Amino acid sequence: MTDSYKPGGKHLIAGEWVGGDTTFQSQPASGAPHEFAAGTAAHVDRAAKAAEEAFWSYGYSSRAERAAFLNAIADAIEARGTQITEIGSSETGLPTARLEGERGRTTGQLRLFASHIEKGEYLDRRTDAAVPDRKPAPRPEIRMLQRPIGPVGVFGASNFPLAFSTAGGDTASALAAGCPVVVKGHPGHPGTAEIVAEAILEAIGKCGVHPGVFSLVQSNTREAGEALVQHPLIKAVGFTGSLKGGRALYDLACARPEPIPFFGELGSVNPMFLLPEAMKARGADIASGWAGSLTMGAGQFCTNPGVGIIIDGAEADAFEATASDALGKMAAQVMLSDGIAGAFRTGQCRVRDTDGVRELVAVEAEGRNAGPWLYAVSGETFLANPSLAEEVFGPLGILVRASDEDEMIEVARGLEGQLTCSLHLDDGDLPLASRLMPVLERKAGRLLANGFPTGVEVVDSMMHGGPYPASTNVSTTSVGTLAIRRFLRPVAYQNIPEALLPPDLRDR
Ligand code: NAP
Repeated sequence: MTDSYKPGGKHLIAGEWVGGDTTFQSQPASGAPHEFAAGTAAHVDRAAKAAEEAFWSYGYSSRAERAAFLNAIADAIEARGTQITEIGSSETGLPTARLEGERGRTTGQLRLFASHIEKGEYLDRRTDAAVPDRKPAPRPEIRMLQRPIGPVGVFGASNFPLAFSTAGGDTASALAAGCPVVVKGHPGHPGTAEIVAEAILEAIGKCGVHPGVFSLVQSNTREAGEALVQHPLIKAVGFTGSLKGGRALYDLACARPEPIPFFGELGSVNPMFLLPEAMKARGADIASGWAGSLTMGAGQFCTNPGVGIIIDGAEADAFEATASDALGKMAAQVMLSDGIAGAFRTGQCRVRDTDGVRELVAVEAEGRNAGPWLYAVSGETFLANPSLAEEVFGPLGILVRASDEDEMIEVARGLEGQLTCSLHLDDGDLPLASRLMPVLERKAGRLLANGFPTGVEVVDSMMHGGPYPASTNVSTTSVGTLAIRRFLRPVAYQNIPEALLPPDLRDR
């Protein structure tokens, strides 16, 4: 049997475990709390300076060297698998199977980025040959490729302690690009962050990489996060979390003397359009499927389908009844933190107290637990109350009963930016679906048919982002190989002698 992991409670800064004057205590869902050093602006400064120092070697390393490093991190995480699951589950309350799956996703992501950079297509190499006899002036030779942007700040996400945290997708894509990383750990899972940082440190030693390539600053206050976004040596930031926090940090990034890109993945209600023929044929199955998707992981997914839009009538009555029955039987689940459970209750009250909202399911729970809640509203009420279209992070659903097809389209047009929009449709629904598609395409980063959005594949074609407020940058994704583009910048080389070009751009 493997011993339980006992966190040392320190930051990892450029290869050294560093303490501090102030500490905070973790608040695990089960098991004993631990004491952790609380990061300050001084810790962030030390980490950012080390990251800048590391850039001079790591930013110029070969793709094969970086791929070996990413694979070594994955190996070191796998070697600690049992301990990571144990402390992750204790801190977050997420079940063992979920943590194991998320670990596989995390190591799979690291290995995917390793093979992605080895292929080299991400460099998007372009060459325009010189045209010396062009009139009236000769054209120079111009070559272009993508270079790493510089040191990157990453915020650990509360709801994915592994896949969107210390060695998660933001870190993996930044390291793959050639960017050193400073992680601001999420206070909801500091021990999980520490053991993963230990795995990264092992890979640094094994691969002989500059230790400034990775630092973890633990923190439960705003100071470290604000300092990270504002640090002049940090050149881009990856963030997953709330609209409020993400927007505050985005504004700080823009207000710097040198503004930097801030890639925030924020809120989304992931609307599902329930089209009439599909409702007639299999409304009950879809209603049960929705209940499962809405409550998976206590609803703590950015892709949770919080809003369903259906056309009023007998099918809507039947859908409402089946979804209510399924959700009403579900037990409460533990949430990621007391703060998130509190925010869920506040959001639930906001929906419940809106005029015209009918409560269908109310599973009361106390403390850090949350049970499912289901509400129904008319299309008119939904359109008149924009706050109903705001994310409530947790197992809460709203069924919008549109009076007809036109009102369904009006609801679609009124939506803010989303990570996903789903259509449940049969062949007979194609005319309505083809009216919705151009609207939904402008609203969301991912459109899906006859499925639920909660599973996000980590592949080349994935887009996990969308128009604001789903994300702060419409052009990129935080999941899938395209995520590397966030941490690259194109550089053009005009008439530069071959010997001075980056090796990846020389004639092969
Ligand atoms: P959060 O409050 O946005 O915090 C995420 C990270 O950002 C934390 O490390 C936090 O640091 C930092 N932070 C937040 N506001 C900041 C500010 N003004 N200045 C500096 N740093 C700041 O998200 P959370 O703690 O994960 O959960 C809270 C709520 O976020 C949830 O109830 C949910 O509504 C939402 N959420 C959404 C998603 C999604 O994918 N859509 C995912 C997770 C959470 P400190 O904690 O140290 O202050």
